[in-house]
Amino acid sequence: MNEDKLFQNIIAHAKEYGFIFQSSEIYDGMQAIYDYGQNGAELKKNIREYWWKAMVQMHENIVGIDSAIFMHPAVWKASGHVDAFNDPLIDNKDSKKRYRADVLLEEYAEKLRQKAIKECAKAAKRFGDSFDEEMYRATNPRVKGYLEEADETMARMARSLEGGNLADVKALIEEKGIADPVSGSKNWTEVRQFNLMFGTQMGSVADGASAVYLRPETAQGIFVNFLNVQKTGRMKIPFGIAQTGKAFRNEIVARQFIFRMREFEQMEMQFFVRPGEEMSFYEKWKEKRMAWHKALGLGEGNYRFHNHDKLAHYANAAADIEFNFPFGFKELEGIHSRTDFDLKAHEQHSGKKLQYFDPELNKSYVPYVVETSIGLDRMFLAILSAAYREETLEDGSQRTVLRIPMALAPVKVAVLPLLKKDGLPEIAREVLRELQLDFNCQYDEKDAIGKRYRRHDAIGTPLCVTVDHQTKEDQTVTLRNRDTMEQSRVSIDRLATMVSKQVSLKSLLQVL
Ligand code: ATP
Repeated sequence: MNEDKLFQNIIAHAKEYGFIFQSSEIYDGMQAIYDYGQNGAELKKNIREYWWKAMVQMHENIVGIDSAIFMHPAVWKASGHVDAFNDPLIDNKDSKKRYRADVLLEEYAEKLRQKAIKECAKAAKRFGDSFDEEMYRATNPRVKGYLEEADETMARMARSLEGGNLADVKALIEEKGIADPVSGSKNWTEVRQFNLMFGTQMGSVADGASAVYLRPETAQGIFVNFLNVQKTGRMKIPFGIAQTGKAFRNEIVARQFIFRMREFEQMEMQFFVRPGEEMSFYEKWKEKRMAWHKALGLGEGNYRFHNHDKLAHYANAAADIEFNFPFGFKELEGIHSRTDFDLKAHEQHSGKKLQYFDPELNKSYVPYVVETSIGLDRMFLAILSAAYREETLEDGSQRTVLRIPMALAPVKVAVLPLLKKDGLPEIAREVLRELQLDFNCQYDEKDAIGKRYRRHDAIGTPLCVTVDHQTKEDQTVTLRNRDTMEQSRVSIDRLATMVSKQVSLKSLLQVL
């Protein structure tokens, strides 16, 4: 199946099985705004919990907060968002479609890199075991050419954007002959900067309402509370503050389902360190965050690091963890060394000191910050797309199954009486009541058992418990595994323990 078709199937599946709906669908929806349905809300909550436990519960020196979406407008002046949270936008005059100029160039460079990869793969086949890829990349003129052009394009774009030379960004698009992906036209407007923050009014207009913003990131709520948390929590550097919450960005190009939304949720952690020690923590957090991802078992080859060519105004090092989405490798999480930029800026704008007295060094300083920042919705999409399988079984029948990491599955156990009679539903409900104390369960007695298994495969339920006539005799039930489809007989007494072993978050947290 081609990637486009696969992605369309995943989107349709997400809707059909109550994971994700277009917002305000009965009014024809809104672009890049989505609602999570009954199964989506559970999966999202479980991902959030996995993150929170791994970051806060498992680290003595990290605490979590929940700051407000609205913040004093001066926060966004200090953080640089009012002046610099812009995307370079370009319109195609023929198709009237709008694009991010930097994305057009990034895609161009990625195509060149893909060509180089293809050439290497062809050569590897040709040369067999004696193939030395590193050498080939460095010496083969064609491969070298592709890679050099990709790097040069990215470097020139970074220079032009940093220097505010938007005319050169347009010139670069034209020189590379980049066409509108929809119409093929190369008839472009000038490149302009576009601020991504949503603004609104607080207070009634008669009162003299003040302009406020919906936060474009959760991080600033952490920075402005840095001293509150440090003092009340008696935190000692190095320490971290974490939070999850909504963020809003008026994205220019909002395509690709929940990958790029205008309202989304972030999970961020700011780690405060001594100035000069940030690089070792930056490396450590890159490693730790990658381990968090890989523990999910979605495939080691689906992740890669990408170091930023163009650093944000606050960073001295930055890398993305990219995931292999159905539309290719794209950013899933960012790890940034943010220096003391934010705390210093807030000191200047607020006139308040935001310093830490380090008893070991016997002096005060503005800490440096290493940040890990992941989009919850993007993580959701990563899991959903890696989990989605259309399988042909041994008997030739088909099933669609979501192989969601068991600990994150929306429903952990389905309890199913084999028949709707002979006292089986009553026993099943008793089993359900017991399991419900620990796990999100569903009771289902409608349709043949095979059909019920398929329904639960489709929403990723890891375990199905079936109550049958034998249950009445020996207090055992069958426990069916979603992935292997194997069934084993388990006594009702041991059921909760057996289920817990397979679906508890513990199994993920233990390996971190
Ligand atoms: P991108 O380059 O894709 O626009 P970004 O570099 O601006 O992302 P950050 O500001 O570093 O993103 O935000 C941290 C994380 O928040 C991203 O890695 C991503 O997972 C998530 N995120 C950012 N923007 C969006 C969005 N519009 N929709 C969904 N998730 C988002």
